[in-house]
Amino acid sequence: MIHEIYPKKYDPTYINRPINGDDYLLCYEKDGILVKYENESYSLPRCRDYSEIFGHEFEDIRDNAYYLFEISGEFFFEIELPVGYTDKIKFCRKIEEAEELLKPGESAWFFLRIHSFRELDPLTMVFAGATGYHLRNWKMASKFCGCCGGKTVPSTTERAFVCSDCGHAAYPQISPAVIVAVTNGDSILLVKNLRRPKNVRLELVSGYVEIGESFEHAVHREVLEEVGLKVKNVRLYKDQPWGISGAHMIGFVAEVDGDDTVVRQEDEISEAKWYKREDVPEYRNRLSVGSEMILKFKEGKL
Ligand SMILES: [Zn+2]
Repeated sequence: MIHEIYPKKYDPTYINRPINGDDYLLCYEKDGILVKYENESYSLPRCRDYSEIFGHEFEDIRDNAYYLFEISGEFFFEIELPVGYTDKIKFCRKIEEAEELLKPGESAWFFLRIHSFRELDPLTMVFAGATGYHLRNWKMASKFCGCCGGKTVPSTTERAFVCSDCGHAAYPQISPAVIVAVTNGDSILLVKNLRRPKNVRLELVSGYVEIGESFEHAVHREVLEEVGLKVKNVRLYKDQPWGISGAHMIGFVAEVDGDDTVVRQEDEISEAKWYKREDVPEYRNRLSVGSEMILKFKEGKL
C-alpha cells in the first residue's frame, strides 16, 4: 500500500530546520505536482534544482519553504511559488501527455496531475508526493483563521498555523473513511461510484466517518445506505493514509446478514453486484487497501 515503503522509514515529527540545497522541495500547482522526467524515469525536485528551473531570483524566496517530514535521512519541504513563477511550466493531466512532449534523451520539468503521479515508481516518491499534497492542501486552507478571519503564521514549535489576532491554532486535518469488503460466501460486493464519473473501475463500499460515530457504526451505516444490506462479523483488516484526498482509510471485512438483495443508493452508486471469486477483475495491487482486499478475496485469502 502507499505507505508501505520499508526499508525506508517515514518520520512526520515536526522540526524547525532551515532548508539545504540537497533537501527535497515539493511544489504543487492546482492538483498537480512538479516532477522531472529524465532517462525514462521521474523524480521530485531538490532545493538546488530551482536555480536551474527558475534562475537566480529563486534564492530570494527559499525562506518560504515549509518543513514537511523526513524519510530515511532525506528532508522534505514544500514551497508555494509567487504568482507568475509557474506560468511557463506545462501542466500535464496524464503521463503519456508528458512523455509525448519530449524526444529521446531530453529531460523536462512539468506539473503532473496527482492522480497520474500516483501511478509512477518508485513507491517512496509517490508516498512523499501524496503526503506532501495532503499537507499542502491543509496549509492552503489554513492561511486565515477559521474563528476570526485573521491572518495566520506558521508555528515555529509544532506543525500548526496560528492566528496573529486571536491565537487560534489550526492543526493538520485528516478525514477518516471506512472501506468495506462485504462478502457472501464465495462472492464479494463490488460497486461503481457516481461521484467518480471517469473512474469506471469496480470498487468496495466506502464512505466518510461522521462526527460522533465509531468506525464500526460507519461500516453498518454506509453499507445500508449505499447497497441496502445488513452486515455481521465486522472485522478490521488494515488502515492506510490516503493523502490524495486528505483521508485515512480504515479497511473492514464484513459478511452479509440475512437478505442479500442489493438495493443501491441511486444518487451515489451506478452499479452494485455480487461477484464470484473467479469473476472478480484483475487489479494492480499496489497502492490502496481497497484493491488489496479485493485481490486477496479473489485469491481466496480474505
Ligand atoms: Zn483568529
